[in-house]
Amino acid sequence: MIDQSFLKIKRKELCKNCLKPEKYYGPFKDGLCSTCRGEDIWGQTLTESEKNELSKLTDELLINASKKGIPIAIGLSGGKDSTYLVKRIIQKFDELGIQNKIICITVRIPTESKNLVPNINNFKKIVKELNLPVEFYEIRPSFDMYKFYLDIILTDKIIIDIQRTYDTCNLCSDLLESLVIKKAIELGSNLIFFGLSPDESNRFIGKIPDEKLSHNWFPEILNDVLDPKVKDDFYSPKWGTVKVLFPFHYWDYDENAARNESKQYIKESDPFKTNCSMVFLNMVLDLYTVGKMGYIESYSHLVRTGAMSKSDGITYLNTFLSLIKNRQSFIWTEHINPILEKFNLSFEDLVDKRKKIIDSIS
Ligand SMILES: [Zn+2]
Repeated sequence: MIDQSFLKIKRKELCKNCLKPEKYYGPFKDGLCSTCRGEDIWGQTLTESEKNELSKLTDELLINASKKGIPIAIGLSGGKDSTYLVKRIIQKFDELGIQNKIICITVRIPTESKNLVPNINNFKKIVKELNLPVEFYEIRPSFDMYKFYLDIILTDKIIIDIQRTYDTCNLCSDLLESLVIKKAIELGSNLIFFGLSPDESNRFIGKIPDEKLSHNWFPEILNDVLDPKVKDDFYSPKWGTVKVLFPFHYWDYDENAARNESKQYIKESDPFKTNCSMVFLNMVLDLYTVGKMGYIESYSHLVRTGAMSKSDGITYLNTFLSLIKNRQSFIWTEHINPILEKFNLSFEDLVDKRKKIIDSIS
């Protein structure tokens, strides 16, 4: 039997500040969750002086790159934030009175949403029409590696904790960022930007730190399993010195502005339609097994920091839950079913396996 009790959450059961449900993030005190009471940290934020420092550094790096004729690389997923970032960087060139070329690098992961390619094609068309200084490149990582990722995370080969969504994203992000860095270096750039929004700050904040860039990223757990050639896709300090920045962690960021402005360039700006399908599979599995709601954590962070309005937060919560409840909804037909099919998985089996893992560790 699949537990569907998470589908009945009421407004009064949500944190007064950030809208997380008490049922899964409680107990609350005075209607506030532990994060809003300041008792735990999810998704760090920078102080004003740290933000200013990073903004100043970014300006200097952009000016310097322009002087030396080094192009700027941007990791372009086809979602609203990375598209919006291209626009913001071009604005930045104008502000600083510089000119430069932008290289957009897309990694076509096997779990990408089907809306991303039409988005990128639309964006390419507009870039051409407006004669913007932007070039596009595409890379495809190994399908076998993703098969292995899914296997270790969805079944029981490795158990870190119940936060599967987070673990999957971490493993995948390391590879994705590595591939973008590799391509950027190949194209003569060492200054790379990613459009992660402020809620996506649980891995790094503002930039990839030097400690992370000083060692190899190949995960030990894959050591005996994968073709040694795949190891070369993971970042190595031998590749050369790079700066990898997440400017939406320190520039002004407004969720609505990102959505509205990216609408001029792409067909679909809705994160429900453009997020990685694996994220949805993981979240739905988490919901059906432990009631953990990864999507809510991320937008409750946006609500908490003022980057998303509370009414939008409520709309998202209600929309997300009703889309999961209805197996004919696009969350199932566009995200979950295609991933299950592509990797030959059964949802009921996955729920069973995950429940067993949780029982064995609790
Ligand atoms: Zn809260």
